[in-house]
Amino acid sequence: MGRQTTKKISPLLLQISLRVMRHWICIYLQGVDAVKWNLGIQYQMKGVECNSLTVTTAGEVVVWVGTESNTWEIQWYDQQGKLIHTAPSPPQCRHYGEDLSVLAVELGGKQQVALSCWLCQSIWLASQDTRAWSVAWQATGGKGSEERKGQPMPRTMCYGKPGQIIAWNMQGEWKSVSVFDITQIPFRLVVPEMKLGTSAEHLCYCDLPGVGGALAVTDFISDYKLCMFSLDSGELLWTLGGLDEWGEPLKVAGAHWAPQGVCSDNRGRLYVADFGDNRIIVLSAASGSVLQEIKHQHVEDPRYLCWDEQSKSIIVGTLIVGKISYFQIVF
Ligand SMILES: [Zn+2]
Repeated sequence: MGRQTTKKISPLLLQISLRVMRHWICIYLQGVDAVKWNLGIQYQMKGVECNSLTVTTAGEVVVWVGTESNTWEIQWYDQQGKLIHTAPSPPQCRHYGEDLSVLAVELGGKQQVALSCWLCQSIWLASQDTRAWSVAWQATGGKGSEERKGQPMPRTMCYGKPGQIIAWNMQGEWKSVSVFDITQIPFRLVVPEMKLGTSAEHLCYCDLPGVGGALAVTDFISDYKLCMFSLDSGELLWTLGGLDEWGEPLKVAGAHWAPQGVCSDNRGRLYVADFGDNRIIVLSAASGSVLQEIKHQHVEDPRYLCWDEQSKSIIVGTLIVGKISYFQIVF
């Protein structure tokens, strides 16, 4: 009798323990605080239009910019803002501007820059040493063929789970992402199309306790919202912003917002560039609740954001002005 009771109670105890654990995890997650920050270095890029920004593990900023001579190139800047390398766009790709995006990746211990072109359905790689281009991934089949239409059109990219990158997929309604394994070249397509139901103009990977791999995306094109998805289930975890019944963007932290670049500090916070109200919104990655806003005269038309673990800074890039600003976070 006693044994039977124990057997019945055990799963209940387990369930209670799990609930208590979940409760404490939730408290831990909600406990992410606002941050203190200092303005770090700032510099002007040598270009007229910046359309993508990334940072290497060594702390170099890499941008994809249009030059005064109407060409496009990748530029590498050191931690003092000095231009150290440039590489013109790949000769096989004659597309420019927003059609391409950069992401710094470390492959076999070497710093490289991946450059995606959704029109070429390709991801190119430039080595930091030689600045020579090679193909990391390319859709197969002839132009306009059914075979080609079934494959990703990669635009903006971010890291994913270890050894993976995630790219916004421009096939169909521009509302899905594709996942690539980058542990070998050519990159291997892991998930051709993960439908999100929202565009993912800017995207950022988060590791959320209790959830695992998650993806934050900003939809600036249609719905002015920020969404967090579980990468395992595809489930929508939370949404911030969106449109009201008249199709106007909802207010976020007191103002109409236009969310663009998004990055995570790997300590439970997300940072979002609000192009609409010239500010950086800081929020809890787990719940989507707003913690604070960063307003500064140097946050002007913020478009691109990335997190630099070296300097513990968010690096903010502007589209037209071509200015890079560091905001160092004090933990
Ligand atoms: Zn191209």
